[in-house]
Amino acid sequence: KKVLIGGGTGFVGTRTNKLLRASNYNVVNISRMPAANNISWTSLEASGLPSNTCAVVNLAGQQFMDFTKIWTPGFKQNVLNSRVFTTRALATAINKSKNKPKVFVLVTGVGAYEPSETNKYDESSPSTGNDFFSKLLVEWEKAAYVDPPVRLVIIRSGVVLGREGGMIKNMILPFFFGLGGPIASGKQFLPWIHIEDLTRLIQFAIENQEVKGILNGVAPQVITNVDFTKAFAKALSRPAFFTVPEFVLNILLHKERAMMLTKGQHVTPKRTLEYGFQFKYPNIDAACAECAHLFSKY
Ligand code: NDP
Repeated sequence: KKVLIGGGTGFVGTRTNKLLRASNYNVVNISRMPAANNISWTSLEASGLPSNTCAVVNLAGQQFMDFTKIWTPGFKQNVLNSRVFTTRALATAINKSKNKPKVFVLVTGVGAYEPSETNKYDESSPSTGNDFFSKLLVEWEKAAYVDPPVRLVIIRSGVVLGREGGMIKNMILPFFFGLGGPIASGKQFLPWIHIEDLTRLIQFAIENQEVKGILNGVAPQVITNVDFTKAFAKALSRPAFFTVPEFVLNILLHKERAMMLTKGQHVTPKRTLEYGFQFKYPNIDAACAECAHLFSKY
């Protein structure tokens, strides 16, 4: 049982590797860096899928909440190309392969849904946004098209909560020192998923033959930024009243990118639940407690 993972070296990828290896999968990562168990994107394009690949996953993409990188047209292009080109390269390799894998799982984001404080979205909602991220999502997901009978599963993930990366890694120190607080009005929705549930959902998509199409990778409990702030501060036993004003983020990050923090969407995992997926962390208090676990003793 071989699984090929684009970007399998990152935050979500490392945990996905661990989970799948524990279930006796042979995991090969596609990476820009050489290492044991890695192949390069060039070798994928030249030689196609490794033999006996039964599932392909794509998690590759230039991190865009990297505060050290300025939001220039060149960087934006890199954010887009690193997702669209890697996805297309995998879809092409799948379409050309003789021994086809059973499934292609792509993890994208809830940026597909236009940020709003009133709209409610599930997987049947159209992705109508006009901002940079919704346009990127449309191109990214289109690049994943594979010919049947290969199943295509697109997981639109919320913010991934886990100690080793993403939002928690950025926020844990300020919160630990009592400097945390809501972002902007705090009323914006914050679609989220615990990293363990996202990796379990990837495995669920690989193993369940009836699963296909779009799945929202978000916990069933819909929360706002203020709800998250309270839960995370409680998990760390710290106060959290230092509000970060929207204009500061707009200046620091650029307005177009800052919207990932200052705006949000009400998203539910309707199809994910209909398929029978069970969340291990359906509520934010338990998810934050797990993420804060090593810090909460101090
Ligand atoms: P990471 O940044 O931790 O990992 C992504 C991987 O992509 C890296 O390990 C890197 O692999 C590869 N990569 C980075 N830049 C490039 C590039 N320019 N060209 C090709 N490959 C590149 O991301 P996450 O694990 O957090 O996220 C995985 C996917 O899930 C991403 O597509 C992300 O957009 C999506 N997602 C993540 C969320 C989150 O909260 N973390 C929320 C919603 C969606 P290497 O250096 O080995 O080449």
